[in-house]
Amino acid sequence: MKYFLNLQVFIFSAAVIFAESRTGELNSSSSDIWPKGKTCAVSLSYDDGLPVHYDIVVPTLNKHGIRATFYLSIRHLESFEKWKEISKTGHELGNHSLFHPCRGSEGYETWLAEYYDLRQYTPGRFKDELYVANQFIDLLDGGKPRTYGNNCTNLTIGSGDEEVPMDPILEELFVAARGAITNRPVDPLAPAFTRLGHFSGDGKTFEQIREEIEEARSTGGWIIYMFHGIGSDSHNLYIEEKEHQKLIEWLHQERKSIWTAPVVDVASYIKKKELN
Ligand SMILES: [Zn+2]
Repeated sequence: MKYFLNLQVFIFSAAVIFAESRTGELNSSSSDIWPKGKTCAVSLSYDDGLPVHYDIVVPTLNKHGIRATFYLSIRHLESFEKWKEISKTGHELGNHSLFHPCRGSEGYETWLAEYYDLRQYTPGRFKDELYVANQFIDLLDGGKPRTYGNNCTNLTIGSGDEEVPMDPILEELFVAARGAITNRPVDPLAPAFTRLGHFSGDGKTFEQIREEIEEARSTGGWIIYMFHGIGSDSHNLYIEEKEHQKLIEWLHQERKSIWTAPVVDVASYIKKKELN
């Protein structure tokens, strides 16, 4: 049984690696996949369910008609009502686990409890945690399809001989999931749905982000951003408010050619296209 399971994991990983290896070479026909007139897709994801997201991010996005993904870590939410309201305005409430487990690493001991170290998790425990977080978010958004925003960009559970990829669990529970920071847009013709490569937006200026999006626009890719705080008092990882504001204004201005949408919307769109 164990051999069979390992073989399954191997085949799954090999398929994922094959799909990923193609993401660097976007096909010139990639842009044909997008809705009419659009040349690329952008998804903005904000992690951890911070108060600054409903105080600053959501009002800015709503003012410019932009929809995004918010990856909620249930244990850390300060208001359930606010997130309920946000889900009604077209934003995705994504899963960022119940307790924000991560693979322990240097410096993590200041905030990561030993018992939430993913190196000590079993696949069953991890799956149950994500499943219950999904049930909780169902109560907030009425049970919409959603994606998983990986904690600490981790891709595996357990350690040593017991270390296994999360992909089979993510495939079962979600439309798609964010993967590693690859600094490459996702190729919509060969997406690795359980580990979508992404960019970090933390610490960047609007100009830096615009250049990255222009690059995705030239190849027809799907560029996914991970953000945390807005301003230095909101999180140790953050973008300055004025840079974020400029980005949202620009995405609004470019809306006829850049499709900005939640991760779940773009992933569902590509999956539907694949069936046709
Ligand atoms: Zn997080």
